[in-house]
Amino acid sequence: MPYEQFLKNLRANRFEASYFPTAAEAIDYLCAAIRGKTVGFGDSHTLLAMNAAERLRAHNTAVYDPTPLSGDAFKEAADKAMTAQVFLLSVNAAAETGELVNIDSSGNRVAGSLWGHEKVYFVFGANKIEPTLERAIWRARNVAAVTNASRFGFRTPCAAKGDRCYNCASPDRICNTLCVYMKKEKSMDMEAVLIGEELGY
Ligand code: SF4
Repeated sequence: MPYEQFLKNLRANRFEASYFPTAAEAIDYLCAAIRGKTVGFGDSHTLLAMNAAERLRAHNTAVYDPTPLSGDAFKEAADKAMTAQVFLLSVNAAAETGELVNIDSSGNRVAGSLWGHEKVYFVFGANKIEPTLERAIWRARNVAAVTNASRFGFRTPCAAKGDRCYNCASPDRICNTLCVYMKKEKSMDMEAVLIGEELGY
């Protein structure tokens, strides 16, 4: 089994952990596991690329995905996602030692991952894995955040230069919260769904 030690370390941190070689197998697994529920998403291009919202809509009560939306529509979907029974998001980085890392701009993604659901699924590609927590935080700041800022065309030094984080004070700064999931929260189930493909940023 690839990534065996990583999965073992996640479980030692009380996360459930599953591995699928392809995104197609992972979305089939999620569709079988999540049925008849209200489902909320944090912003996730990994889940968008998997067409996860459309797949889950087929057999769940409602699916709220703010990822492709903006303005009032984004806020409405994000608000509804916050109270859904099941919440799905990705991570900006994962440490082989079993911790997960997310940076957030608006707060809906991290807020929704910490409280208020029956279960949270973190769905991510193997390209997000780094050997240590320190390197995972580095990746979240210097790879994921930089790529996101560039993608949105924000007026930040990282978007202008595209090389690294400058810990900017720009009004467009997207790195407003850094969340490290050291262990599973007591309040609800949390599962890491690792996919053996390159997905997201
Ligand atoms: S803090 Fe600023 S410079 Fe650094 S990645 Fe975030 S937006 Fe870019």
